[in-house]
Amino acid sequence: MNTQIYQDPMLVMANAQLEKAALQLGLDAGMQALMRTPERKLEVSLPIKMDDGSIQVFSGFRVQHSTARGPSKGGIRYHANVTAEEVQALATLMTWKCSVVGIPFGGGKGGVAVNVKTLSPRELECLTRRYAASIMSIIGSRRDIPAPDVDTDAQIMAWFDDTLTVFHGYADPAVVTGKPLGLGGSLGRDEATGRGLAQCTGFALEKMGIDPTQVTAAVQGYGKVGRFGAEILQNEYGCKIVAVSDISGAWHCPDGLDANDLSEWVRTHGGLLEGYENHNPQAQLITNEQLLTLDVDVLAPCALESQITERNAGDVRASLIVEGANGPTTVEGDEILKQRGVMTIPDILANAGGVTVSYFEWVQGLQFQKWELEEVRKRLFGVMKESFETVWSISQNYKIGMREAAFMVAVDRVASAIQMRGLFP
Ligand code: NAD
Repeated sequence: MNTQIYQDPMLVMANAQLEKAALQLGLDAGMQALMRTPERKLEVSLPIKMDDGSIQVFSGFRVQHSTARGPSKGGIRYHANVTAEEVQALATLMTWKCSVVGIPFGGGKGGVAVNVKTLSPRELECLTRRYAASIMSIIGSRRDIPAPDVDTDAQIMAWFDDTLTVFHGYADPAVVTGKPLGLGGSLGRDEATGRGLAQCTGFALEKMGIDPTQVTAAVQGYGKVGRFGAEILQNEYGCKIVAVSDISGAWHCPDGLDANDLSEWVRTHGGLLEGYENHNPQAQLITNEQLLTLDVDVLAPCALESQITERNAGDVRASLIVEGANGPTTVEGDEILKQRGVMTIPDILANAGGVTVSYFEWVQGLQFQKWELEEVRKRLFGVMKESFETVWSISQNYKIGMREAAFMVAVDRVASAIQMRGLFP
């Protein structure tokens, strides 16, 4: 019996939601324990020769939470605060995410505890290749398929892929996703998480009877998810983006900021918004904490976990929260939002566009095919629409929030897969 007490807020949230869903679905304690416990956890040490000749040893992790519905799938995060428990939490969320959008994967996740800003390009490549070689024995296109996450990108996926190709002696275009286009990446993968986020926002606003062109939105985190999310919300849904932020600060303009201009600034200024107020004097500098409690209709937290907590949930003024990041709301924060009637589209649904197009990339890789951008977008819309409607109808039928409903859908599918497989031996 696994009686471990977890500290990571994302794992606490995921396990609390599992418990609630299990209760609704009538799943017993044994099945709950099975679904809470990761199938495999690997921790590796990564000694790297630094440019100054010294040796530094980094810690790397890969967790495979579940393979009940297919190979495990999940990103690789490079961040100074990465821990074994955080990676387990993210792998667990991946299981529920893949399940809620009905793609045939289980959940996995990887991470290295490192601040990439402190590494030279050569050191970053060495670390990536050493990490790939160290976890290779559990990776494979029908076993566990990595992808980018925080502070990892298509270049890192290319080094990861190449390292496996060197060891295996053959190329396997389905072994990682989020690859550069020239190495078998999918069109539309870079924008996919942001597009899925914008689509979920659109579906939710429609249910709430709100016209998207009358909506103001604040986006926390202007990285891969937030940037595309903001652009698509503005350009395709007509929402007004009034505030954005990243690690360097937050900017607010009640009359609206231009997401295309912000993105151009980020592209040409080292990936950061820093200094944007010099380019656009209308943009007022505020803090990240202030951004979360601005008087806006939609709040999209797209940075890191545990941003909406018991400290600030009571001050959030948005009526709709769309979780681009994984685990941006703690259990306590979520409870306060629910009591205040704020609608939350949970991470496992709102940011599932990324893994959905990763799935498309995997399918293209297995078949050595290339789909047109319009094909990818059309299929993504279909998956997100169907998933949203399924979760929405459960939430209406059971009179529960979207997070509880999404977990009910996800847990039910994984439990059925486990029951169909039976237990070995
Ligand atoms: P990223 O590294 O591209 O961007 C992260 C952004 O957050 C950066 O702009 C960074 O400056 C900003 N940030 C970091 N700390 C911050 C802070 N304290 N306050 C405000 N901003 C801060 O990462 P990403 O891929 O965009 O991922 C963001 C979140 O979305 C993560 O939780 C990730 O797990 C999740 N996610 C990503 C994808 C994907 O496809 N990339 C898919 C699903 C979920």
